[in-house]
Amino acid sequence: MQTQLLIGGRLVAGEGDAEVILDSASGTQVATVRSASASQVEAAVAAAEQAFPGWARTPPRERGALLLKIADALDSQAADYAALESRNTGKPLAAMLNDEMPSIADTFRYFAGVCRAPQGLAAGEYLAGHTSLIRRDPVGVVASIAPWNYPLMMLAWKIAPAIAAGNTLIVKPSEQTPLTALKLAATLAEVLPPGVVNIICGRGEPVGRLLTSHPKVRMVSLTGSVATGQKILAAAADGLKRTHLELGGKAPVIVFDDVDVEALVAGVRTFGFYNAGQDCTAACRMYVGHKVYERVVADLTSAARSIKMGTQEEAGVEMGPLISATHRERVTGMVDRARAAKHVTITTGGKPRAGGGFFFEPTVIAGARQEDEIVQREVFGPVVSVTPFSDTDEAIRWANDSEYGLASSIWTRDISRAMTVASQLQYGVTWINTHFASVNEMPHGGFKRSGYGKDMSVYALEDYTVVRHLMIKL
Ligand code: NAD
Repeated sequence: MQTQLLIGGRLVAGEGDAEVILDSASGTQVATVRSASASQVEAAVAAAEQAFPGWARTPPRERGALLLKIADALDSQAADYAALESRNTGKPLAAMLNDEMPSIADTFRYFAGVCRAPQGLAAGEYLAGHTSLIRRDPVGVVASIAPWNYPLMMLAWKIAPAIAAGNTLIVKPSEQTPLTALKLAATLAEVLPPGVVNIICGRGEPVGRLLTSHPKVRMVSLTGSVATGQKILAAAADGLKRTHLELGGKAPVIVFDDVDVEALVAGVRTFGFYNAGQDCTAACRMYVGHKVYERVVADLTSAARSIKMGTQEEAGVEMGPLISATHRERVTGMVDRARAAKHVTITTGGKPRAGGGFFFEPTVIAGARQEDEIVQREVFGPVVSVTPFSDTDEAIRWANDSEYGLASSIWTRDISRAMTVASQLQYGVTWINTHFASVNEMPHGGFKRSGYGKDMSVYALEDYTVVRHLMIKL
């Protein structure tokens, strides 16, 4: 197993603390990974800084060609990447191989192409006797910090647009899930010029902090929790660094009485429990019209009960474990506190599964009220709350009454109503009669405490560039 860091184009052993990497489905050790020492963080930043001028001047066509090579390598080793990621996180192997891997390779292909087709204002004489034109140039050295829920996919979302735009990078995967990042490091060492991407491991403290507060780092990109986002903003303040923050979510699912109940239930069965609900866009907070409420609760309860939970390669497995014992305790605590309220009924699930690994049963919580913690706070587990509403205004008000602003969905056969409601929601994405689907051409990112900045799409490319005005006196 490749456990070395990538610094300046070379694979090197970490010189910091050793981190034990677990299999979340069994709780047993998979590997040990040595973190970067302070001097290795320094060396990674220096390597990125040294590589920057050359990489920034490399024509987009050539940068794109190297991104395509990375995509090809991901495709040709997809089975190995999927096996490694699922072994560490406990995700079902088939889901990793068939859902995530093609999308990850496509992220590199998309940015390989789109970096060759920038868009912008036309050059022209906006002041008499002067020609103005706009440049979009890379920001410089970027530090990217990734979470554990989709380790390789989040890494792809960070690496591909940043290097396509001409930046150089230091990437830190989550200390709990570094294995696919380190496998990718071996490919990047072969494909990219030294220093363009450096991959170092370690915890937020000290490695993440050393990296994000480094004076030579010009931009910090994080996908992670709100608390970490706040720490990164504080660390970035000194150097006035640009930041790009993809934080948590608590997606409302607004269901009107004219909904196609079967399609809704099938949708929430998938989009509420995918990746064991460890997804910042998970369909986890339902608001349901009075007329269909009872039926939706009953059907969703049976649907959630039918989800096959199990280890990575069990036949027909649909849902794996949570990432860690600590995270499972957090989810259990939130469900137990919800259960304590008299108005709430846990119609299925509601507890950890006995035995090895960090499994938690698919859970439906009916009768939750707007002010309940389970409705207000991100659980990041396989838990869906259902709340009845009486009119459209109330549904919109409750949906927007959240600290988060990442994802939402509306379910109705009335497209005019769907469009009217969508225009009033404060979320980075609103799906109509579906949830969760994403494509590399379209932006992903939120507002409010979900952060700011976009992943995927031309907007991500823009986020990793600065707009410059060039004016020529004629
Ligand atoms: P986390 O914030 O604990 O960790 C994320 C990363 O930040 C890890 O690599 C961690 O080592 C690093 N980190 C922690 N403290 C740091 C510090 N002081 N300085 C620099 N780096 C530091 O989050 P997590 O538990 O890995 O992931 C779960 C969270 O991520 C959830 O809240 C979820 O909603 C969010 N998330 C958001 C998106 C999105 O696109 N909006 C996607 C996936 C996950």
